[in-house]
Amino acid sequence: MTTKREDVLNWDEYFMGLAHLSARRSKDPNTAVGAAIVDENHRVVSVGYNGFPKGCSDDEFPWAREGGTLDTKYAYVVHAELNAILNSKWPVTGCTIYVSLFPCNECAKAIIQSGIRRIVYESDKYNGVDTNIASKRMLRAAGVELCRLENTIHLEVTKTKNPETKAE
Ligand SMILES: [Zn+2]
Repeated sequence: MTTKREDVLNWDEYFMGLAHLSARRSKDPNTAVGAAIVDENHRVVSVGYNGFPKGCSDDEFPWAREGGTLDTKYAYVVHAELNAILNSKWPVTGCTIYVSLFPCNECAKAIIQSGIRRIVYESDKYNGVDTNIASKRMLRAAGVELCRLENTIHLEVTKTKNPETKAE
């Protein structure tokens, strides 16, 4: 008898993979973050990645991390989590959000207010930083479940010329 494959991704790993794939849309030269929002039936509700608001050109707005407020990305960029929430065509109440990086305090506010109940993340590299402490303080007070993935997910995405495309 042929046995089933055992090395499959579990749901959390699969959706983290989707978050990583979404991050590949980000133009941020330093930190590409992706997010995926999924409902209790494992249906994808929304995805997002960090980028400038609509109409704000990637060529005109700054990606710099240092300089005056108006010259850095921090004044303009929308984080992946907030984009995923704002991009959703459906309510995200009761959903899980998958993010590679633990959400900042601003995204934590949006996550709580949108009704998302669970956060699955990989990295918590800003653990102990004030904004991270504030984020966790709010999320715990609001009863949002915080889950760090046991395995980290690595995607390799390659683009190659489609051999079926006719040569010009
Ligand atoms: Zn954020």
